[in-house]
Amino acid sequence: PTILAIESSCDETSASVIRNGQVLSNIVATQAIHEQYGGVVPELASRAHQQNIIPVVAQALQKANIEKSALDAVAFTRGPGLLGALLVGCSFAKSFALGLNLPLIEVNHMQAHILAHFIDDPQPNFPFLCLTVSGGHTQIVLVRSHLDMEVLGQTTDDAVGEAFDKSAKLLGLPYPGGPMLDKLASTGNPDRFTFPIVNMDGYDYSFSGIKTSILNFVKKNAAADPDFVQNNLADICASIQKALIMTLLKKLVLAAKDLGVKEIAIAGGVSANSGLRQTLQDYAQRYGWNVYLPAFEYCTDNAAMIAMAAHYKYLAGDFTSQYASPDPRLKISL
Ligand code: ATP
Ligand code: MG
Ligand code: FE
Repeated sequence: PTILAIESSCDETSASVIRNGQVLSNIVATQAIHEQYGGVVPELASRAHQQNIIPVVAQALQKANIEKSALDAVAFTRGPGLLGALLVGCSFAKSFALGLNLPLIEVNHMQAHILAHFIDDPQPNFPFLCLTVSGGHTQIVLVRSHLDMEVLGQTTDDAVGEAFDKSAKLLGLPYPGGPMLDKLASTGNPDRFTFPIVNMDGYDYSFSGIKTSILNFVKKNAAADPDFVQNNLADICASIQKALIMTLLKKLVLAAKDLGVKEIAIAGGVSANSGLRQTLQDYAQRYGWNVYLPAFEYCTDNAAMIAMAAHYKYLAGDFTSQYASPDPRLKISL
């Protein structure tokens, strides 16, 4: 099948065309408007999606060299995400499908982050564990098949991407802080400072505490030396990053051991983090894991992963109707 997929859950407007599981195009328009506010402003995101969606879809079709008449289905992200942002993609997809008399496919954004692993080789073997780490989620997911996934544990408060972004903000770094913190950390000493690692029950996480500990750390040291943060920035970033990565991997190791699974993947925006990628490679050696890291272009939000998920749903005959509406809190087990 040839499918047009649309992603609009947060601050990326994206469209992709996939044919028989091969991604032909993946156009991503990242909204720059939010930079000046230091975070995503939901209403501005919705408006930017409205401006972007038609040109982004046109580009995706053009790049794929596909006529609208050659499409077999239209897919969209139903959730989770920002309601207003999701509404733009959902409404566009429904109108487009109605106009062309095409079936509609709704996709769960978190499931799609995981299915990004099936765009290119190597692909993980079932069952595998996926640590899904992004701006809004932190989950350990048992993936039994393309469409059968179970969340084993997740954050009880902030997502790890949020922890990266908020830590960076406390250090005075511009938005989005995650990638910047990663870059600075690469030249720092991760053992210089110690930040607390919260150990939750089971496979759950908590990342809200680290913000307070960083705030206290900055206040205490800046009182003695106003240039403390500036002069030790790389070491502070490396130490924060290490605490976040160790917290993530502790539970992943536990789940892998408990379930006897050695196929391990990561997904979501934070899977672009170089420290996390390197540590996972090291763990592959230590624990005999086969580790799967997504290509950078498929870590953060993109429509190619929505298209990949839609491909499997099309093959399974899983379509939705013109009555479909976004669900900002859509759960992964459908
Ligand atoms: P969700 O997928 O949970 O709905 P989202 O779509 O906003 O949230 P993604 O686009 O998947 O999130 O990921 C964005 C997050 O990834 C941001 O928090 C960003 O800071 C983080 N991120 C991106 N690159 C890196 C990196 N190299 N190191 C750390 N964090 C990163
Ligand atoms: Mg984003
Ligand atoms: Fe995402």
